Amino acid sequence: MEDLNNYATNLPDFETQLMAVGGGKIIDYVKVIASIAKRDYIAIPTNASHDGFSSPYINFLLREKIKREGKTGYFPSYIPTSPLAIIGDTKLVSQASEASISAGVGDVLSKWVAIRDWRLANRLKGEKFDIYAATFAEMTATLVSDRVSSLGQGFISEKGARDLLKALASSGVAMCIAGSSRPASGSEHLVSHALDKVAEKERLNIAHGHKTGLVSILMMYLHGGDWQRIPNVLERVKAPLTLKDLKLDRDIFLNAVNVAQKIRPNRYTILSEGITKSALINALEITGID
Ligand SMILES: [Zn+2]
Repeated sequence: MEDLNNYATNLPDFETQLMAVGGGKIIDYVKVIASIAKRDYIAIPTNASHDGFSSPYINFLLREKIKREGKTGYFPSYIPTSPLAIIGDTKLVSQASEASISAGVGDVLSKWVAIRDWRLANRLKGEKFDIYAATFAEMTATLVSDRVSSLGQGFISEKGARDLLKALASSGVAMCIAGSSRPASGSEHLVSHALDKVAEKERLNIAHGHKTGLVSILMMYLHGGDWQRIPNVLERVKAPLTLKDLKLDRDIFLNAVNVAQKIRPNRYTILSEGITKSALINALEITGID
């Protein structure tokens, strides 16, 4: 964190353009530097594993860290900053690992759940809902799902990478229209964040999109929606479909679902009113993610 602050405060005076070339971590660091230095940046993702390259927001754990350091007065708070431009090299991205592509698909499909949660918050809590942002986000999931269905394993190709990059970039646009991460992040992301906290302690290394994709199956079931279509798509790109695939202990997962809403109490989701352990176990068994 100290390095990021030093780097940002020692940038040359002239209009330096910041370029973020790499995966999610590098892009997040450049976002933080851009926020401190009040500069624009261009995102050049080298994989399509999640929508971080198009989102103005940064990784949950990094945000928490900045908040903690901000309290000591050392680190300025992060101001969400969208990239000035995104350059997606489809060839390069298609050559990234298959796991990165399947993770990207998982993160895109999670928008179906995020919008369900948003609609629920609108109906039950009167939260402001933006139909343009919501439709846009849902469309990205539907388009990728259609493409995966027609291309199957062929989706892991330059053609698939192009579709995935476009969908992930559109997710960032949906967040900009909404002025928040609502269209891209609901209960499935809260559980993923809870797992990130556990992962930090247990040193688990699970791709963000693999977590959000898998948890989306469960959350869609809890919403009473068409949850089967999520594993159907994930299976075609060889994404993890069970806790075992993720090498995730069942109790750790149950605990993460339990504490997920506490991470962000104001973001109303299907988990806000609580869920009993027996109902949760039942849902795990019915959806087959156990
Ligand atoms: Zn995500």
